[in-house]
Amino acid sequence: MGSVERYDVVVVGAGPAGSLTARYAAAGGARTLLIEKRQEIGSPVRCGEGIARHFLDECDIRFDTKWVAQEVSGAKVVSPNGSFFKIDERYAGNEVGLVLERDAFDKALAKDAAKAGADIWVKATAVGLLREDGMVKGVRVKRLDEEFNIAAGAVVGADGFESQVGRWAGIKTLLKAGDITGTLQYRLTNIDPDPDFPRYCEFYLGNEVAPAGYVWVFPKDESTANVGIGVSLTRLRNKMDIKVYLDRWIAKDPRFKRAQFLDMVTGGVSTSPPLPETTGNGIALVGDAARMIDPITGGGIGNGCRAGRILGEVLARCTETGDFSKAALQTYEKGWRAVLEEQLWRNWMAKNKLCTLTDETFDKIIDTLQHANLAKLSVHRILLAIKERHPELVKEFEDLI
Ligand SMILES: Cc1cc2nc3c(=O)[nH]c(=O)nc-3n(C[C@H](O)[C@H](O)[C@H](O)COP(=O)(O)OP(=O)(O)OC[C@H]3O[C@@H](n4cnc5c(N)ncnc54)[C@H](O)[C@@H]3O)c2cc1C
Repeated sequence: MGSVERYDVVVVGAGPAGSLTARYAAAGGARTLLIEKRQEIGSPVRCGEGIARHFLDECDIRFDTKWVAQEVSGAKVVSPNGSFFKIDERYAGNEVGLVLERDAFDKALAKDAAKAGADIWVKATAVGLLREDGMVKGVRVKRLDEEFNIAAGAVVGADGFESQVGRWAGIKTLLKAGDITGTLQYRLTNIDPDPDFPRYCEFYLGNEVAPAGYVWVFPKDESTANVGIGVSLTRLRNKMDIKVYLDRWIAKDPRFKRAQFLDMVTGGVSTSPPLPETTGNGIALVGDAARMIDPITGGGIGNGCRAGRILGEVLARCTETGDFSKAALQTYEKGWRAVLEEQLWRNWMAKNKLCTLTDETFDKIIDTLQHANLAKLSVHRILLAIKERHPELVKEFEDLI
């Protein structure tokens, strides 16, 4: 094959999912390489940066104030008519608890992978897969001006929303327009405080605010926040619509009267059901590349980390046996599905329902939740509360509740 190097595992993409995979593969004894096409891991940031603390424990990520911008007390969810409910961060779902410095966080996860024994290359782009007898046997890499082959027992596609690795391997990752949310986010500073800012991650709902999506305000410090919007691609007539929605919303909130821009990012997130398959012979997908983003919230850091850990551990075992076949990788396929699949399906169905609701119904739901005394704001519990007062809203997917 003319390869210059040989590894047990090559992970493509040093986001959270890739770094966790590399860390656990290396820790379990696999000779592991993590490659990243960007010149700096974690930068530029394209993320709202919210994550629930429980993911840190589950993935054994040691809390470090270096990558925490703001700790919040909870989530505040605001309905079209302005009424809202608040919920404690411990119970507020996957994206609420910490607002990260994602660039520092991603670097910290890569450092953990290096400490566990993984090699890391930056400015190294996967440009194709190497195949032999129906098995993926490595990856072709472009590093600076050089192109070469790296042989591997398994290649991991952790290359994010725009993943190519999956497509190269013949795994069906194509998304329908209705399962893609377009996003735009500003980092704004000079924001005026109010009794809840910067103590809550805020979510604003409604068809005038963000059709089939929401606006978020995730505080970074006492006067700075990530203020973003997600709108389903099917609801955008042209690319600029999304900016019109966000600017209009910001203009109405007096806290932003004197606000100034620190940055602006755009990006896509998948809001799809789980993929039917994330593995093949010598290949596995993880994180956004495997469409593991929560279809309701658009959050994917935590799910990517969880699945990355599972995949890394499985790859370490494959290294021991020397078997990286699709059959051997079923332990990963089953492992991530056991923890994520049901939730992804349920939230996808709930998302499809939410996309059809009128503002009056949103108001009713928020009103229901205000009075529901929810112990925990999982989508599941929200659906249970809605089912109790407005069963007609959840009729189509009653079975999943
Ligand atoms: C505007 C916005 C706001 C968001 N807010 C939140 C939030 O608040 N909370 C949350 O949990 N999630 C949020 N998300 C989603 C979150 O950012 C992703 O789910 C998360 O980054 C997924 O991690 P990952 O490791 O799978 O992929 P990524 O973090 O995307 O990492 C993939 C990496 O692969 C690299 N790569 C790609 N192709 C190649 C190649 N060919 N060769 C080498 N390297 C390659 C990329 O450069 C990148 O570094 C948001 C997304 C957007 C767009």
